[in-house]
Amino acid sequence: MTVNLYDHVESIPDFPEKGIVFRDILPLMANGEAFKQATAELAQFARERGVEMVVGPEARGFIVGCPIAYDLGVGFAPARKKGKLPRPAVSATYDLEYGSATLQMEHDAIKPGQKVLVVDDLLATGGTILATIDLVEQMGGIVVGCAFLVDLKDLHGMERLKDYDVKALMEFS
Ligand code: IMP
Repeated sequence: MTVNLYDHVESIPDFPEKGIVFRDILPLMANGEAFKQATAELAQFARERGVEMVVGPEARGFIVGCPIAYDLGVGFAPARKKGKLPRPAVSATYDLEYGSATLQMEHDAIKPGQKVLVVDDLLATGGTILATIDLVEQMGGIVVGCAFLVDLKDLHGMERLKDYDVKALMEFS
């Protein structure tokens, strides 16, 4: 039986600040059936594009990306917050509402020409995923798909990703 994934996303008003509705996908991850179905749908999208490596940003990109990589039988490489990686790294900085943030990957995590799926739990403005894409492309990887559980469509991340093949399983305003 198919699970309605929307039943497993909780909307929390006024978090992290007044006026923002936070879409909490942890209930989906906590439900075995829903998590398996979501993983299988995104893995199928990746399989159809010949993905050879999955990349996700810290931290929920790891939770969504690892089971997809496992399902496909390919590797997973994390994009970590600055300063966590012991080996030489490539970096990409992106704007936050207040200030900026930097993501890093080990410099040889992706081979030139490798087909990569970048994945995160949720697409908002697109800053996080564009920084992740930047890292992959700095190493010569080819981003053949971007995958999310949720797209917050009013924040227009999809428009910033118009040059990429994007799949989101759910949409919220
Ligand atoms: P963006 O960089 O603006 O696209 O924001 C996406 C990042 O912020 C993702 O890594 C999400 O985990 C996180 N995020 C932003 N809004 C929410 C939300 O409503 N629920 C869960 N995560 C969110």
